[in-house]
Amino acid sequence: MTKKTKQPSLDFKTDWAYAPALEDTKHISLKKQYDLFIDGEFVKPHSKKYFATYNPATEQKLADIAEADQTDVNKAVSAARKAFEKWSKISASERGKYIYRIARLMQERAREFSVIETLDGGKPIRESRDIDIPLAANHFFYYAGWADKLEYAFPNRNPKPLGVAGQIIPWNFPLLMAAWKIAPALATGNTVVLKPAESTSLTALKLAELIRDSGLPNGVVNIVTGAGSTGAAIVNHPDINKIAFTGSTDVGKLIQKSIAGTSKKLTLELGGKAANIIFDDAPIDQAVEGIINGIFFNQGHVCCAGSRLFIQEGVADVVIRKLKDRMETLIVGDPLDKNTDIGAINSKEQLSKINKYITIGKNEGAEMYQSSCALPTKGYFCRPTLFLNASQSHRIVQEEIFGPVLTIQTFRTIEEVIEKANNIPYGLSAGVWTDKGSKIFNLTSKLRAGVVWANTYNKFDPTSPFGGYKESGFGREGGLHGLMPYLTF
Ligand code: NAP
Ligand code: MG
Repeated sequence: MTKKTKQPSLDFKTDWAYAPALEDTKHISLKKQYDLFIDGEFVKPHSKKYFATYNPATEQKLADIAEADQTDVNKAVSAARKAFEKWSKISASERGKYIYRIARLMQERAREFSVIETLDGGKPIRESRDIDIPLAANHFFYYAGWADKLEYAFPNRNPKPLGVAGQIIPWNFPLLMAAWKIAPALATGNTVVLKPAESTSLTALKLAELIRDSGLPNGVVNIVTGAGSTGAAIVNHPDINKIAFTGSTDVGKLIQKSIAGTSKKLTLELGGKAANIIFDDAPIDQAVEGIINGIFFNQGHVCCAGSRLFIQEGVADVVIRKLKDRMETLIVGDPLDKNTDIGAINSKEQLSKINKYITIGKNEGAEMYQSSCALPTKGYFCRPTLFLNASQSHRIVQEEIFGPVLTIQTFRTIEEVIEKANNIPYGLSAGVWTDKGSKIFNLTSKLRAGVVWANTYNKFDPTSPFGGYKESGFGREGGLHGLMPYLTF
């Protein structure tokens, strides 16, 4: 009898049933030191400099990461340029096969990716396991499917790749943002130089190992770690054809200035300050869950977080009471514990930024409410926080806090809430909770937000485009639209 080998399951939920406890990190292999991934191999940085990455829940060092300078970026760009000559010419279905292989390997190693994501970034394991890592793999699956269908996606337009894409990503969804960037670039025949964020480089480096194991031709994907200056070296490199950036609006503006006048193409996925709007006729219990998920998912480190809550006056008291009750049940603590709802704030700097805004909110005269949970004594943690009676001019309403802090305003009419929701520099996302389909259609056409969720929040899918208006950036990632920024016609 032949022995059956276990095939990786397409269903993550089933696969997890055989997993060792996720709190058990013994099966996770982290190296002491990580080098740069250039031209298919790991190489030491030119400067010989390394920086430490920490577990924000314990403040313990996890590993040292290489810091790439201009010389390393030059090497990575020339490897990507050389690889582009071949990669852009192999058959599209062959390209698709490589991308499928990356997706399959990611699925097989999902457990390891999840634990590392949680260790390095502080997000609850339940989220890494059920959302970040499966979605990242799905992104590769989805774009693998497009690789040999571009002529059908853009009929009679002869789509061609741009060349070398420089990609820079933030720390809030490290592997997922890498997938959002790399998968469409490869499917369209481009090659890549990607820089992860300083505080969360580990899953991108695990992805580099996976890419090496997948047999993807050398130089097609290069991963260079480092600080903002490494990102700037990519942005300013003359042999890069396209920059895809996800991060803060301030850095996005800098990038836009520095490539002005060049032929580089640009997409910017920047900050947000979404309105989450609850009408009198909303399903209240469902809406309260949506508010909780909207602002406390990933500790509020979410560009599309529903950080400005608008409640219609008739239900304001009941919504606020239920919200406070629900907040009391949230477990803040060890991100590796699968019961944890809110993990660690990503870094010491981010925690002090959030605390600064909490002080600003109190000084501005809004009424603060925090849940009474105990916080761990080590690590960077923040209690779930509400500000009642916030007003439109408050800084806590206008500026992105990027933490578990929600402002609450009430409204009477639909015109009033549209005016207030749009009166902000950002335009990334919004949420609407109502029983009436007509209200949903009315609002979705009037809210200046790239994504509007109705009676749900923070739902992501590779088939659906994502991106902003105004100071939230331009260009779309995901779906058919996500192919376009990597093509010339
Ligand atoms: P950030 O400070 O702008 O950093 C983003 C990335 O850019 C990091 O890799 C960073 O490197 C790098 N960088 C810093 N300075 C640079 C420069 N001068 N030139 C080129 N690259 C540079 O943002 P973050 O704090 O990591 O992320 C949070 C922000 O991202 C929030 O505003 C959030 O809303 C936004 N975001 C937007 C989306 C979206 O899809 N719209 C998704 C997720 C996050 P270092 O890590 O070394 O600083
Ligand atoms: Mg870290």
